[in-house]
Amino acid sequence: MPWKSSCFAITFLFVPFLLQCKALQLLEQQPQATQREVNDTISEPTSLVQLIYFTPQDRPFKQRIVDQIELQMGVVQTFFADQMEAHGFGRKTFSFEIDVKGKAIVHRVKGQFPDKHYLYNTTNKVETEIGEQFSLSKNVYMIVVDISQKYINGAMGFGSSRRGGQSGILWIAKSGFQSQIIAHELGHAFGLSHDFRNERFLMSYGSFHLSSTRLEKRQLSKEAAEFLDASRFFNPNRTFSSQFQPKIKIISSLEYPPSADSLRIIFELSDPDGLHQARFHTNPNITDKNLARFSRGSPAFKASKRLNGQEMTVEFVYELSKVDVHDLWLQVVDSKGHFGTKSFSVHLQK
Ligand SMILES: [Zn+2]
Repeated sequence: MPWKSSCFAITFLFVPFLLQCKALQLLEQQPQATQREVNDTISEPTSLVQLIYFTPQDRPFKQRIVDQIELQMGVVQTFFADQMEAHGFGRKTFSFEIDVKGKAIVHRVKGQFPDKHYLYNTTNKVETEIGEQFSLSKNVYMIVVDISQKYINGAMGFGSSRRGGQSGILWIAKSGFQSQIIAHELGHAFGLSHDFRNERFLMSYGSFHLSSTRLEKRQLSKEAAEFLDASRFFNPNRTFSSQFQPKIKIISSLEYPPSADSLRIIFELSDPDGLHQARFHTNPNITDKNLARFSRGSPAFKASKRLNGQEMTVEFVYELSKVDVHDLWLQVVDSKGHFGTKSFSVHLQK
């Protein structure tokens, strides 16, 4: 597959506070009862990835896809373990739901409507139905959508984190059923935003050479590994007594004089669980029009600081470009893997 189309794959990004996609309304048909063909004898532990295979009412389940989901998840799980180990965090990785024999549990959900219902505004429609059966608030859900078209909502896949690192969701279209896309979107679902500092990074789009988009050529940045070290999905045996999210306060001016080429921004941070990492993001400066369509206006990682203690003051230096309004984000994660994000902008002095 040419890179041009696979880079769209990786696109829709992590914006935890935005809902995806504006709807195109289609005529609805009378719903039939949703079936859930699942061996559901195992209770759902928290903080793992649950796998859902969704087909419209008039499309058959394919065992081949179920087998592929299990295979790909194993590859992606090992990738994260290898990368975490390479950065000195041990072989930490996420878990996905398995049965007593150690086989992946793939929840098969049959839609209430035929295929044509799901061709537009796919994720909202599918989520409404899946939400009737799954709480979607505890775990990360990977939803493989088998509709007749290659893309869902115009992309091969996308993911986002929810509830400050307590849950997340990723959507994989037929064309996005590749380990590098699943790993990138899982990264978003765990709370990582894009990181275009190096094309080898998992959270970048890769380069225009097809081989560098392959998962075995990608790497987690050390800052991403440090973030995941605290994630509840990488610490499945931890108990969570508190749900605090870090508090973020800006205590320096957000105006800069005409002569300035950079601005120091100072933050006051606090969290009773202990602070773990502060991550500074800017609006990505992507020149490729197609890629910019998916990434402008959402955070791209620039720098981070390792934190300690319940209260800290940290500073980041923002290099000013020639644009007058600068969108910025600070994401702060605590030792329990809960995070908060503050979006703000800096302005030229009037
Ligand atoms: Zn992305």
